[in-house]
Amino acid sequence: MSDVRVRFAPSPTGPLHIGGLRTALYNYLFARKNRGAFVLRIEDTDRNRFVPGSEDHISEALEWCGIQPDESPMKGGDFKPYRQSERMHLYADYAERLVVAGYAYYAFDTQEALTARRRAVESKAVPFTYGVKNRMELQNSLSLGATEVARRKETDPYVIRFKMPERNTVVTRDLIRGKSEIDCALLDDKILYKSDGMPTYHLAHVVDDHLMQISHVIRGAEWLPSLSLHQLLYEAFGWKAPEFAHLPLIVKPVGQGKLSKRDGDRYGFPVYPLEWQDPQTGKRTAGYRESGYFPESLVNILALLGWNPGTTQERFSLAELETAFSLERVNKSSATFDPGKAVWFNHQYLQEKSDAVLARDLAAILKTKNLEKPLGFVERVVSLTRMRADFVRDMFEGGIYFFAAPDSYEKKAAQRIFKPEALPILQSLEREFARMSEFSREALAQQIENWIRSRGLGLGRVKSLLRLSLVGALQGPGLFEIAALIGRAECLTRLQRAISFVVRH
Ligand code: GLU
Repeated sequence: MSDVRVRFAPSPTGPLHIGGLRTALYNYLFARKNRGAFVLRIEDTDRNRFVPGSEDHISEALEWCGIQPDESPMKGGDFKPYRQSERMHLYADYAERLVVAGYAYYAFDTQEALTARRRAVESKAVPFTYGVKNRMELQNSLSLGATEVARRKETDPYVIRFKMPERNTVVTRDLIRGKSEIDCALLDDKILYKSDGMPTYHLAHVVDDHLMQISHVIRGAEWLPSLSLHQLLYEAFGWKAPEFAHLPLIVKPVGQGKLSKRDGDRYGFPVYPLEWQDPQTGKRTAGYRESGYFPESLVNILALLGWNPGTTQERFSLAELETAFSLERVNKSSATFDPGKAVWFNHQYLQEKSDAVLARDLAAILKTKNLEKPLGFVERVVSLTRMRADFVRDMFEGGIYFFAAPDSYEKKAAQRIFKPEALPILQSLEREFARMSEFSREALAQQIENWIRSRGLGLGRVKSLLRLSLVGALQGPGLFEIAALIGRAECLTRLQRAISFVVRH
């Protein structure tokens, strides 16, 4: 193992979104490529935003995609525990250390006082920051005397704030975006430790990344604005900061902004890897898995949403990505999600699977519909319908007539084909079918086609008639293939139904 250690650090505040899964994937790939370790850390310090079930949703999604952490709350590891709620004893001490060293201070301002001040400032169209310019006018251990501070600490709630340095600028570096410089006077003295005894994300993750010896922080671009604070925190602690890489946003297929659940509802694609049931409303939202995507398609789709191989290759297995991936080829600009391309990927992966594997999945669908068939039969259906399928369910929906007799006939085709003059032909066909000694595709093709010709009937016309009777529409693979597969008895039943339909209409 190398010194490379990366982490995926989700907050269990709801379902895992594909953006989060992509962050996990890139961390995992970076770790594998560099023979390092991939850590899963659950950042659950904000109890107000905690949503039950989300940690399981995250772990299960990673497992489904084959993104296995080397260290995690479930698996353990040398740097355990991996849930911040189990590390609470650590953070207060680190916050105090910063106060003692002069990098942080106690602040006693009440919510009301801050809101009033914010309103006053913002009415002049100036943004409010608690920082370098005004902190001496506020209620904190920088502005108040030592005795007053000691007294207030006994009686009043207080927070610990980071003291933005009075120097001019802070320089940050990002492996994807390069160097940037920010004026410290524009930055907030962010809260590190809350009055309820909880650390904020800023403090907790810096402490944990340090203690867990994280070498590279790879996360979403939404954290870029906080990077200066994090950089300064490392400096204040006297710790070497990890390298940072902020991944591009995944944006809507149409329009601007971050891809949201609403876009998924609107354009009909999932935004969660797995189904999510809202614990409050009980409402279920299907994920990629439930929508019929293969995990390898989702991994491939996500790999290319922000990274490019520098070649025209589009298909990558997880194993191939583990060697091909590099942060140098992660794009700066946002990645547009393309639902059509996602379906295309699934089609490609479906075409690669064996009939037997697809038959197993199709059989599972049939079971839920009470239409079970022997596996050999299902496998034949797969071999006949797979070419046009993007999802396994397409073979069920498009090949429904293999499993059940049509309960109606396509209207236009029926009007054109099921005319009174079709009746004697259908009746003769029924007799021919009943008489055949062998009921194979070859035998059907030969005997029925000969029979049609010997009667001087149009081949196309009779075959359409037969197809409409058996399938219910003018579609599907080879007619005699279908007939042989569903079998003589079923063909006869369907012909009889077609006859009574013609009689009735
Ligand atoms: N808990 C943060 C989140 O859920 C992690 C951000 C980070 O990776 O530093 O976004």
